[in-house]
Amino acid sequence: MITVLSGGVGAARLLRALSDVMDPSQITAVVNVGDDVVMHGLTICPDLDTIIYTLAGLNNDELGWGLSGETWRVMRELEALGGEAWFQLGDRDLATHLYRSQRLSEGATKTEVTMELASRLGVAARVLPVTNDSVATEFVTEHGRLSFQEYFVRHHHDVVVQAIEIVGAPEACATPEVLSALRDASRLIIAPSNPLISIDPILRIPGVREIVRERRDDVVAVSPLIGGQALKGPAARLLGELGYEVSTLGVVDFYEGLVGTWIIDEADTHLADEVRRRGVRVEVTTTIMAEADNAQRLAKVVLS
Ligand code: GDP
Ligand code: CA
Repeated sequence: MITVLSGGVGAARLLRALSDVMDPSQITAVVNVGDDVVMHGLTICPDLDTIIYTLAGLNNDELGWGLSGETWRVMRELEALGGEAWFQLGDRDLATHLYRSQRLSEGATKTEVTMELASRLGVAARVLPVTNDSVATEFVTEHGRLSFQEYFVRHHHDVVVQAIEIVGAPEACATPEVLSALRDASRLIIAPSNPLISIDPILRIPGVREIVRERRDDVVAVSPLIGGQALKGPAARLLGELGYEVSTLGVVDFYEGLVGTWIIDEADTHLADEVRRRGVRVEVTTTIMAEADNAQRLAKVVLS
């Protein structure tokens, strides 16, 4: 059994490749819930949904999020009514949020609902929210305090960030399923997700960082930065704004004491010795997962 600390897209790509090269029922994804939001009364879990949709083969490649074959009739009607339509929710996607919200209102936990959704969509890997409690990533910015979706979607992550807060994390409990998935896995993997806003909100749930630290020798991390740039999203910019080096070295420093083996991209070969000097093993390979064979090669390195 392996356990993968996961954000959205970067993690979903790695999880899909891992599922291609090993028995997917032996994979557990422990997923960030700091981006979760209630909109129109519906509970939306963007990272959990990205992972489930991708593993089910239903992801929308053109958009990079959401479901394939999506339509937008509800959003258009909502806009015509003067409703809040800046956060796009497709017609197909809405079914997921309706299902989840109804089940939560009946008293089901986020963990139970996630397992139901994954199994109905034919996902063999185990997908777990890190906690059933509510946690919200917030940004202290030049425009004041912003919620995750205000920062990410409304402002297109194009504002200066002074600090990131994971509201509710210190009081939240990791689920028993998550704690045993972290303790019992033969290997822990940190996906190439945004360190500050996808992985940190997982590590900040009490108990999680401590287990990862104790198991450091079994922890393999894939850098989300390639040649100092993120393939998508604000990872590079945020590292710089929060005082880290804008490169794989900044990511390595961010995870100090938590990782035994780093997998870095060929574009960062020149950084390998510097990373080794920090007392970790380093593997250099192609880490861009756009093509399935490259992604599977990376998955095999992660497992080797
Ligand atoms: P989000 O929650 O959907 O924003 O996704 P994540 O936090 O999981 O992923 C965003 C990060 O994934 C960005 O920093 C990207 O650079 C990284 N990423 C996306 N695709 C790839 C890939 O193919 N290879 C690597 N190494 N990183 C990737
Ligand atoms: Ca996310």
